[in-house]
Amino acid sequence: MTSFSAFWVEKSEDGVTHQIIERTTDDLPDGDVLINVHYSSLNYKDALSSKGLPGVTKSYPHTPGIDAAGQVVESNTSLFEPGDNVVVIGFDLGMNTPGGYGQLIRVPASWITPLPAGMTLRESMIIGTAGLTAALCYDKLLKMGAKPSDGPVVVTGATGGVGSVAVALLAKEGFDVVASSGKADKADYLKGLGAKDVIDRESLSEQNPRPMDAMKYAHGIDTVGGEILTNVIKGLSYGGSVAICGLVASPAFTTTVLPFILRNVNILGIDSVSLPIEEKTRVWNMLAADWKLSSLDEMVVEIGLNQLSGEIDKIFAGGVAGRTLVKHEVLG
Ligand code: NDP
Repeated sequence: MTSFSAFWVEKSEDGVTHQIIERTTDDLPDGDVLINVHYSSLNYKDALSSKGLPGVTKSYPHTPGIDAAGQVVESNTSLFEPGDNVVVIGFDLGMNTPGGYGQLIRVPASWITPLPAGMTLRESMIIGTAGLTAALCYDKLLKMGAKPSDGPVVVTGATGGVGSVAVALLAKEGFDVVASSGKADKADYLKGLGAKDVIDRESLSEQNPRPMDAMKYAHGIDTVGGEILTNVIKGLSYGGSVAICGLVASPAFTTTVLPFILRNVNILGIDSVSLPIEEKTRVWNMLAADWKLSSLDEMVVEIGLNQLSGEIDKIFAGGVAGRTLVKHEVLG
């Protein structure tokens, strides 16, 4: 039995509390592989779980952390051996299975991706669920035939985790990126990641009674939903596609059939959680090779477990830009 530190969320009628406690491997669920977590990250979903909000974690107390990267300690499958570097994101990690905010996790082998050659554990967690989701959006746009000569691609929630990686990846691949953001003071940050234009998200938030608008965007990656997504669909060019992954503004959006039947546009759903591990691994490998980003260090803030609580509050106050990397003191 090994002891380790974990971020611990308790929920009661008085509210939610956070502390760092000692746990042991006996507290972890059965699983194929025990992993010594070197890094995790903070995603919007981790903030929901850490605040006890509905839709992510059903039962408390709980250790969140939907992302983890580290080294295999014990394995009861021939697929992984002690010392292997691995990445786990999605499935039930950090939802109802103790997550990456603990120094150790135990998970089924089917949730694990070997760390791709050409990527460090640290890089994998700067990317994390948010970055993989951005890459899944890009991958689906490519499957629809998107190419730089089509015209500008709009990214909403651009300073967020998904948004930042989406901006950087599209720009690296030669697309003209229009970054929609609520943070006027982050225009230089977004241009540094490669955005060609930065627009105020208010300009995409206005209610517009017309079923379609002028054609402004060849394609889009939307992380926010709501009226902003409605307006992105209205502004897509003929044959354009928007990949939809988030609901920060609202899970609802309105549309008529007209953009679909008159402009041949497409909406593409993106899920990083239950996507089969083979698909996740394929996209991880792309992020370590052809899609490798040189700007990861520009978008990251590194914190320890004891700083998590404050960073979680900042997410809901709209104060986070880019990715938040959680670095563990690695168990010896
Ligand atoms: P972040 O909190 O990092 O970023 C969200 C961004 O959205 C903010 O930085 C802000 O960007 C913008 N924003 C915040 N509040 C509002 C608002 N009220 N209206 C409009 N825009 C707003 O979140 P992530 O990037 O990690 O995640 C984004 C979304 O994607 C979340 O809904 C998350 O649950 C979802 N997601 C889905 C996945 C999937 O598998 N489908 C996987 C990962 C994430 P700015 O100020 O620049 O506008």
